Amino acid sequence: MTPAKPLLAGVELGGTKCVCIVGTGPDDIRTQISVPTGDDPDVTLRRIAETLRDLSLAMGSFAALGVASFGPVDLTPGSPTYGFITSTAKPGWRDTDVAGRLGRLFDLPAGFDTDVNGAALAEGCWGAAQGLSDFAYVTVGTGVGVGLVVNGRPAHGFNHAELGHIRIPRKAGDRWEGACPFHGDCVEGLASGAAIERRLGLSAGRLAADDPVWDLVAHALGQLLHTLVLATAPRRILLGGGVMNAQPHMFDRLRRELQLSLNGYITAPQIGQGIADYVRAPGLGDLAGPLGALAIAADALAAAGPPGPGA
Ligand code: ZN
Repeated sequence: MTPAKPLLAGVELGGTKCVCIVGTGPDDIRTQISVPTGDDPDVTLRRIAETLRDLSLAMGSFAALGVASFGPVDLTPGSPTYGFITSTAKPGWRDTDVAGRLGRLFDLPAGFDTDVNGAALAEGCWGAAQGLSDFAYVTVGTGVGVGLVVNGRPAHGFNHAELGHIRIPRKAGDRWEGACPFHGDCVEGLASGAAIERRLGLSAGRLAADDPVWDLVAHALGQLLHTLVLATAPRRILLGGGVMNAQPHMFDRLRRELQLSLNGYITAPQIGQGIADYVRAPGLGDLAGPLGALAIAADALAAAGPPGPGA
């Protein structure tokens, strides 16, 4: 008989809502409960804590907890601000201890990472990156984020990767200043849903597929993919998020932009005849985010090792 899979709890902290999720994986999601992300983190975190406690009472003990958060976050072990959301532009949330406050709720293995690294881990466990040790998950939504897995682990140095904010050569003739409050015309400042809305005054989801702005957005994201390929040679690049979901024509545009930009320098089949499989949609769809929190919990449980003989 196969032993029962451990029951995991996760929290995905997003810019507009937080999702509390309990389950063992994509085929066994017991519940998902959303809590609005208000401007007062104390109120939001208290509601999340109450929700998790209620779920634990109703569903039984969790084996581990995972927290996947919008960033930037401090992931440096031993840092006095480990587990804090740091320099976010979101009102009220700068310098907020997230991992500590949620991690102390239960006496359990607890993991903490960015929302995009969580989504990448989930795609590696259950989605379109299963069996791959090196891959990237790019989300193009309100912002642009990259979950980057290298040698089977999310890339962490003194910080997590922040590839949505790389600077890129601009498309000829485009001089718009960009929307990133830190860098202006970084990739996120040019290609995020928020940037497109700022530039045109219209939501990205409502624009026609032949709107000229998509040439500019595809160019910026193509430069991001170019950098990804040259930096860590991911074996697959998955693109999700609200803008990609609403504008599926972007996949072919991005494949073309990547090929044009690399200009024959990389001769691997991934950049040639295999590009449709190389640059593609995630396998878990919109569930990649909340399942990311469960994947982080599974990761924390594995890191904690098997229970001791007294457990
Ligand atoms: Zn930026």
